[in-house]
Amino acid sequence: MTLSRPDTLRSAGAKRPEFTPLGLSLVTAIFVFAVHNATFWRIGSDVFAGHMLSFAGFIAAVFCLALAVQSVFSFPYVVKPFLAFVLILGDVTSYYMDQLGVIIDRDMIQNVMVTTVTVLHQIGSHGPTYYLRYPEAFERFKPACRTAEFKECTAAEITNAYDNTIAYTDAMLARTIDLLDQKSNLNTALIYVSDHGESLGEFGLYLHGSPYFMAPACHSTVPMVLWMSEGFKAQFNLDDACLSQQADVALSHDNLFHSLLGMLDISTRERDPALDIFAPCHTSQRVAQK
Ligand SMILES: [Zn+2]
Repeated sequence: MTLSRPDTLRSAGAKRPEFTPLGLSLVTAIFVFAVHNATFWRIGSDVFAGHMLSFAGFIAAVFCLALAVQSVFSFPYVVKPFLAFVLILGDVTSYYMDQLGVIIDRDMIQNVMVTTVTVLHQIGSHGPTYYLRYPEAFERFKPACRTAEFKECTAAEITNAYDNTIAYTDAMLARTIDLLDQKSNLNTALIYVSDHGESLGEFGLYLHGSPYFMAPACHSTVPMVLWMSEGFKAQFNLDDACLSQQADVALSHDNLFHSLLGMLDISTRERDPALDIFAPCHTSQRVAQK
């Protein structure tokens, strides 16, 4: 007499679909993405409004990440309990997201998706080729020196060329702020700071780059501009009246690194609060103090 083993019995009957552990993970990931995250995708499509290609890229990236995490657990005996846990977790979080509006709100998604720091490095007013630092149409002060050979120009022509670079930077900053201000779906801010100043013939000196101990004040005294949208001030709890009061305080480039971290509310031991110009101007307690 031969005893049939259970799997032999099953193979005689109707065939159940067989999934490899990885296949099972893939199906679960698709299910969780499609069914459990409707609110997440709705808010996401709102944040990415008009940039559907970026949104599709973001979805693909999150999907690959989810699949990568699941694939770690994709081996026999572990895969099923793990995927059951994923499905239950997905159910619970989507319930709270949909019913109670907690877990993830628009700001949180926007933070993750589009918080970005863009560095614009223009050559500004860096000499000696001042005339190359602005388009000809922006030549407001004339006649302007149009060569790097200063000895071929008068002092007034050199100063005119320099002043044109300042006027052009001014217009460029105004345009950039307008552009940021129009992004009503984003909370935006701009910090502008020069790296050094220039001499324009004072003490017989031109240009920049003299050793620090003998450099005139105009080489090391530079402007800084800060602009923040209303949304940015609200999101990061920044009091602009408090910041305006500090406008005349002497700052240095040393403040920049720590202030950028403070401005974006990034908690790290690298941030020295004494050098963070935003530290005294948060309207409420920082959320995460580390
Ligand atoms: Zn420079």
